[in-house]
Amino acid sequence: MPDAALLARLAAAVDANFEKEVSFLADLVKFPSTRGNEAPLQDWMARQLAARGYGVDRYTLAEVPLAAHPKASPMVDASSATSVQVVATHRAANPTGRSLILQGHIDVVPEGPTEMWTYPPYSATIKDGWMYGRGAHDMKSGVAAMIFAMDALKTAGLEPAADVHVQTVTEEESTGNGALSTLVRGYRAEAALIPEPTGGTITRAHTGTLWFRIKVRGVPVHVAVAQSGSNAIMSAYHLIQALQAHTVTLNEAAKRNEWYAGIDSPLKFNPGIIRGGDWASSTPAWCEVDCRIGLLPGADVAEIQRGVERCVDQAAKTDNFLANNPPLVEWHGFLADGYVLEPGTEAEAVLAAAHAQVFGAAMPARITTAVNDTRFYGLYFGIPGLCYGPKGEGAHGFDERTSLDHLKQTTLSIAAFIADWCGARPLG
Ligand SMILES: [Zn+2]
Repeated sequence: MPDAALLARLAAAVDANFEKEVSFLADLVKFPSTRGNEAPLQDWMARQLAARGYGVDRYTLAEVPLAAHPKASPMVDASSATSVQVVATHRAANPTGRSLILQGHIDVVPEGPTEMWTYPPYSATIKDGWMYGRGAHDMKSGVAAMIFAMDALKTAGLEPAADVHVQTVTEEESTGNGALSTLVRGYRAEAALIPEPTGGTITRAHTGTLWFRIKVRGVPVHVAVAQSGSNAIMSAYHLIQALQAHTVTLNEAAKRNEWYAGIDSPLKFNPGIIRGGDWASSTPAWCEVDCRIGLLPGADVAEIQRGVERCVDQAAKTDNFLANNPPLVEWHGFLADGYVLEPGTEAEAVLAAAHAQVFGAAMPARITTAVNDTRFYGLYFGIPGLCYGPKGEGAHGFDERTSLDHLKQTTLSIAAFIADWCGARPLG
């Protein structure tokens, strides 16, 4: 644990830089970095990190042999291949401490109808100590925190005594391939911290996520004789209902899970996008539904996939048209495992000590029903994946916002964690 004098130095540095941190976060939020549109932000980020003296590796997913890794997810569309990743490295001369990866995703989900927002979603408006905007909370606040935690050491006249990779990735909201690409490219450390907005809690467990697209056909006829056609949208609705029932069954089994037993219906099924039909007075000849379903840590991805396919198959057999024209199920994104950060790692103990020092209270653990990128580190590369970050509200919703006070404290606790985990020595 950093001693009181060191913590005070870091706190003074975080304070001194905080105005810059808030304006950095506002700049981040002003980039509408939805999937396929992240490059301008990543190019800007690469310049910001290079200006701090880091060695910067900026590359696209197409430059990494991702497909060779069994845990790469199918790319959603062609835009993924050119998706830009940034790894900035502090290389310690004669490292004596433990190395660290700090990673945040800069992709955000679409903002939806803007008239439903109190402030425009990419305006980064500040009101009463909160910054509003798409991504302000999930997770550009965490990205600002990790970068300014490193800056705090420097402002305090210090540097980490071990290598630190500061990584901004894409695809967190759709496949996780951005995070995986950094590992396939060869970046490693003794711990990874992903400052997702957890409100100062450590993520003990996260569920996995699968994406699939159901494609349904119909028979188009004039609606005047609808009984002689087949309505693909209604057929899709029938399949959605079957998948809802399937999810109830999965959640029954979740009641016996070590980590999720205490959470009501932790596995969420969501039909998230629907497309179909061509004319209001024709029975629709086609319908596609993009869906998401959760799975428990330890569940076998392939087995959950087969369960979904079986469910759709069986539901189709009870429909006259679908029985002879079976719907297709395509896996078009996330094939993500759940992950448990097993209690007792040294990395978590060091983070907990830093948190307690800054917040004056023990670091609580949370169990989440969403996915994050720590799974790649923890499950496939033997690197403890800590998911811990600032406080906010409204992830994926209207009026998403982050608490600036909490952001400042989190920046300090991450700085204290870095100083302890990596060791801090006078800037050389
Ligand atoms: Zn996130």
